[in-house]
Amino acid sequence: MKSVAFDAAALIMLAVLFVTVIIRKMTKGTSNRLFLLQIVIAVFSTSFDIFAVALDNYNSRNVFLLNFAHTGYLMIHNIHPFVHMLFVISLTDTWHKIFRNQAKIILFALPYAVDFILLAINPFTHLMFTVENGYTHEVLFHTLYACIVPYIIMNVVYVIRYRVLFNRRKIFSLFSMTVLSFIAVLVHLFIQELLVESFAITMSLFIVSAGVLRPEDYIDSFTGLYKHSAYAYDMKRSFYNDKHVNIVMLNIGNYNTLTSMLGYDMMTDILHQVSLMIDDVNKRLHGHADLYFLDRGRFRMVFSGRNRNKAETAASMLMNELKMRSHINGLDINFTPYIVLARCPEEIESFQSLMAFGQDFHEKTHYSGQVMQATEVYDPNEFAIQNNIDKIIERALEGNKFEVYYQPIYSISSERFVSAEALLRLFDEEHGFISPEILVPAAEKSGAIHKIGEFVFEEVCKFVSGNEFKKLGLDYIEVNLSVAQCMHGDLADKILSVMHQYNVSPDSINLEITETAASFSQRVMTENLNKLSRAGLSFSLDDYGTGYSNMKRVIQLPLKIVKLDKSFVDEQHNPKMWIFLQNTVKMLKDMKMEIVVEGIETKEMLEAFANLKCDFIQGYFFSRPICKSEFIEFIASSAGIALDSEQTII
Ligand code: C2E
Ligand code: MG
Ligand code: MG
Repeated sequence: MKSVAFDAAALIMLAVLFVTVIIRKMTKGTSNRLFLLQIVIAVFSTSFDIFAVALDNYNSRNVFLLNFAHTGYLMIHNIHPFVHMLFVISLTDTWHKIFRNQAKIILFALPYAVDFILLAINPFTHLMFTVENGYTHEVLFHTLYACIVPYIIMNVVYVIRYRVLFNRRKIFSLFSMTVLSFIAVLVHLFIQELLVESFAITMSLFIVSAGVLRPEDYIDSFTGLYKHSAYAYDMKRSFYNDKHVNIVMLNIGNYNTLTSMLGYDMMTDILHQVSLMIDDVNKRLHGHADLYFLDRGRFRMVFSGRNRNKAETAASMLMNELKMRSHINGLDINFTPYIVLARCPEEIESFQSLMAFGQDFHEKTHYSGQVMQATEVYDPNEFAIQNNIDKIIERALEGNKFEVYYQPIYSISSERFVSAEALLRLFDEEHGFISPEILVPAAEKSGAIHKIGEFVFEEVCKFVSGNEFKKLGLDYIEVNLSVAQCMHGDLADKILSVMHQYNVSPDSINLEITETAASFSQRVMTENLNKLSRAGLSFSLDDYGTGYSNMKRVIQLPLKIVKLDKSFVDEQHNPKMWIFLQNTVKMLKDMKMEIVVEGIETKEMLEAFANLKCDFIQGYFFSRPICKSEFIEFIASSAGIALDSEQTII
């Protein structure tokens, strides 16, 4: 007597799983549909199994029914590995690779086709099983198992081959089908009365449902669109498989301002409205784009294929609607939508670059109110550098490739060069000259800024402590500190210990901090700055006028110098700017601060700012940043100091 207990349990579990799939709305998308199909197949094969076993147990003599039940069971049961393989292919989105040509399709379907044909003709050939004297396996029965082996092997190979697309939980879940089916077959071979195959498949479907199909991982509950993680997964898959997509990338530029004005709840509502608008655009175009809400006001529409007409239309429709749309929930909202249309992988060549670019392109481009093409705003070299920044920095540190350049700073009152700003330079063998404007932020993200900062500071200390420096008549060197450096607990101690090591007096160093750093009222940063200030170091506020400073913080900081940003210089012909500048200078002078003007390129600019009573001038007009030896030569010649052939001062 065979027992149907495991089959009955499997049926109950399958019913539960089916209902869960419906409740969790896991019925959209090819993968989900193939998963549902696997449940349906399991229900049918289990039912056929119960039917066949019941006939056997009651010693039925109805040959037709017996053949029908056993053939039905085996046909449906054996299609499972085939459908499961389709499911794995759909998870990797590699249909086009497998089904590129007919030969491959035939090869793929062949093992199951053999099974199917053998079973279909079995009532006449009796090669697989017979039912006349009770259900008995015949000579070719084991070809059934042989025919599913290719799918099982392919499944394992596929998951391993595409493992970068899956996390460990998914890999484990996808292997569970193979492992459990294998155990079930072994059990069944040794104990024929135990029918555990359907039960094993059901168990593995549960595991796959829990480990692979997790809508909560993919769908944002507020907007109903796919989440950031789904975008990352889909894009990674797309680049990996060389698929062509057109992406409409929408970043709402004033998201932060809107959130701070309107509050979280209201903003959630607004984002929901935007997502409905995007959905509507997609429907009107019959675009079949995948829609994503990443976070902080960033949305994506991804159109498959090379044709970009729909993506282009969607982008401009979206731009027009967002520029117009001002009345949401009784509020007048002005969006600053930035939309970039990108063709991948032609225009943005890698997954990492796509993600890094999408993060903050709205902060790096001027708002034009027009859809931008990726080719206009995306610089592949910049992102190649960002993606490889760790390697580049490691290579530079190992090969001593970093250099410190100096840009002279001129004192108007004493009519000579009194100081200089130390600026980092790197020439990488692969990427060429790397601007600190790319290097420093990337190094801040990767944490390498601390090592780089230490290098710059030590170089400056070596220079300042040398004899040349004193003979050149320079007062101090300005060294840039980035926000990440200021927030590091060890900063003050490290700086003081290097100065101690080289016996550098604190008045030969001035530390530049930016407005962004100044507006942080972070405890660590305040402690660092206070400690350094107590040790006698002075500070400059760099790039004044570019950020939004917290004036109260700026006033509290131990600042000696304020550096007016180049943007002031560029706009000096604007009469309002000139009034603003005059008053800013007066205010800073009244506060007993010294003023450096950055970015002076012409004599006219120099005179204008000298008349304003600024103290110091820095800019290409006098000199670009130059290497140490050139700098020594430059200062020596401007001060009429003679140098010998070794560049030492005579
Ligand atoms: P910054 O501190 O404001 O440095 C001044 C920048 O303006 C330098 O760019 C300099 O070359 C440029 N500049 C000076 N005069 C002129 C001019 O007349 N016209 C124009 N168009 N530009 C001028 P650079 O060297 O590319 O540095 C860019 C930024 O990178 C710096 O801005 C600073 O924020 C950062 N940086 C550079 N070196 C370091 C460093 O050692 N540590 C840290 N943390 N940041 C650094
Ligand atoms: Mg600076
Ligand atoms: Mg500056």
